[in-house]
Amino acid sequence: MTPLDPIHIYEVSPRDGLQNEATIVSTDDKVQLISRLVAAGVQDIEVTSFVKPSWIPQLADAAEVVERLPKAPGVNYWGLVPNRVGLERAIDTGLQCVATFMSASETHNQKNVNRTWRESLKNLRTVIGDAKDGGLTVRAYISTVFGCPYEGEVSVARSTMLARELREAGADTIVLSDTIGTGNPRMVHRIVSAAVEAGVPLDSLALHMHDTRGTAVANVIAGLQAGVRAFDGAIAGVGGCPYAPGAAGNAATEDLVHVLEAMGHATGVDLGIASEAGAFLSNALGRDLPGRMHRVHMSQVAADEQTCSA
Ligand code: MG
Repeated sequence: MTPLDPIHIYEVSPRDGLQNEATIVSTDDKVQLISRLVAAGVQDIEVTSFVKPSWIPQLADAAEVVERLPKAPGVNYWGLVPNRVGLERAIDTGLQCVATFMSASETHNQKNVNRTWRESLKNLRTVIGDAKDGGLTVRAYISTVFGCPYEGEVSVARSTMLARELREAGADTIVLSDTIGTGNPRMVHRIVSAAVEAGVPLDSLALHMHDTRGTAVANVIAGLQAGVRAFDGAIAGVGGCPYAPGAAGNAATEDLVHVLEAMGHATGVDLGIASEAGAFLSNALGRDLPGRMHRVHMSQVAADEQTCSA
């Protein structure tokens, strides 16, 4: 049997996962979470953000986190950068990989970064160009591609135009993001196909899905069937939606690893170690997290221990 394509998992829990959490996680625990993700075999980890520290107190320890990252050859550590100042802060820490962001819908972009989408695109062209000139690797998130909390449906033409423009500006990866979890499998297929038709190479696309309405895994599988081979996940599904307090967060890394591996796609991620990282994070936050497989794994471990001691 021909082996199926390997899948690239990009882990966002230390940044996207934590940024909406009210409980401040200590730098020690963040570093330990990242070490556990590395031990699980995750090769790309978004470790922090270089937005203004006063905007997101949870991530105000960005420089310290980067300084204390485990040395791990072959692992890429990423920082989120909003603008040129953020890019400079990231470069000062020695990070080699950065992620930029903007929204496909005007209202979300205005509320998020206080700029029109046109201003954001213009600004990011320069930021991405500078990052590439400096030898960095860049991924560009496009938020609200699958729906906007203010405007509802978002123009596919707008999203695909932005994908093409950001790619032409030099971004290595374009991340189509379902910020509020309103995407569905048909929409995923339609938008991925439209981006490819607009000239964005399939192998430069990644999907960032949210499980707000329980559709994250279905949407990832739709992306897989449309030819995408790179998916974002957050361990234990951490990362609540600011527009739906208490709702489920990002696609859970361990759930994606489980289903993709079960289908025959190698992810390079050890499900057991990843699940234990999820349990660790749940403990650090003092609450249950929405991912499934870390709970399945931990209850199996507990059952095995009981059997052994019986
Ligand atoms: Mg997210």
